[in-house]
Amino acid sequence: MSDFNNKVVWITGASSGIGRALAIAFSHAGAKCILSARNTSALEETQRMCTNPDKQVVLQLDVTDEQRVEYAVREVVDLGGVDILINNAGVSQRSTVEKTDMSVYRSLMEVNYFAVVKLTKTILPHMIKQGQGSIVTISSIAGKVGPPYRAGYAASKHALHGFFDSLRAETSHKGIRSLVVCPGYINTPIAHNALAGDGEKYNKRDAENANGLDANDLAQRILKAIKKKKTEVYFGKFEVNAVRLKRFLPGILTKMLSKKFLEDPEK
Ligand code: NDP
Repeated sequence: MSDFNNKVVWITGASSGIGRALAIAFSHAGAKCILSARNTSALEETQRMCTNPDKQVVLQLDVTDEQRVEYAVREVVDLGGVDILINNAGVSQRSTVEKTDMSVYRSLMEVNYFAVVKLTKTILPHMIKQGQGSIVTISSIAGKVGPPYRAGYAASKHALHGFFDSLRAETSHKGIRSLVVCPGYINTPIAHNALAGDGEKYNKRDAENANGLDANDLAQRILKAIKKKKTEVYFGKFEVNAVRLKRFLPGILTKMLSKKFLEDPEK
């Protein structure tokens, strides 16, 4: 029997990309998924794509709305609690520092960092009370290395690592596991949904994402990492090497990223 059989898994950002792939993978492994995002019809589409759709629950939620987050947590606890929370909802960026409005930095922090802190903090006492729980957070390779056009996105993802390192130290003895996942380029609509420097949607597809790892493949690797009780993992193609390069050969990494930027500085 699967490790996830009858586990309750709450996935934010389940209306698209990685969140949808995780819902499909967890439901296939026998889990009951709670599917959250803003777009209800897209969540219902995810639900239909899951194994045993009737077992899966759609819970519409804007993760930046703190009051709604509190209400949603109460609802989920009333349904019987959560074994695994997947903080996956997120927004990317495609703009240089010189051409990015301050409001874009604030929006990125709201969705990618503060919303994760709020949901995690709100569900945490319930997980501690039940004596166990896993909190899985989707960061990025950009959470370890800042690439061009992503300064605000990279900063918001870097912040998650500090938060979860501290949380892990404070709560692992209470049965709470914290896993931070750093994907490289994954083939999803993330570039399309990313913010441009003026706060509008970028609305284009990036070749890097289109040629990236398949989201279903990533989802399977994430399930394995949870089973193996990992704390931080990196999944992708060649770009994953940036983490090791930053540690051991930072000068070479800087040259490589600068060269990449100069190949297309007006992106
Ligand atoms: P998508 O754009 O396909 O999906 C983003 C998801 O986040 C959507 O379901 C969207 O749902 C949800 N979301 C955005 N804002 C909110 C909000 N305010 N409240 C609730 N849900 C929200 O991108 P991916 O699937 O690729 O991204 C998922 C995660 O993976 C993100 O955290 C991203 O940073 C991370 N990641 C992705 C990589 C990639 O290459 N694709 C690489 C590294 C990390 P809705 O609009 O319906 O609210």
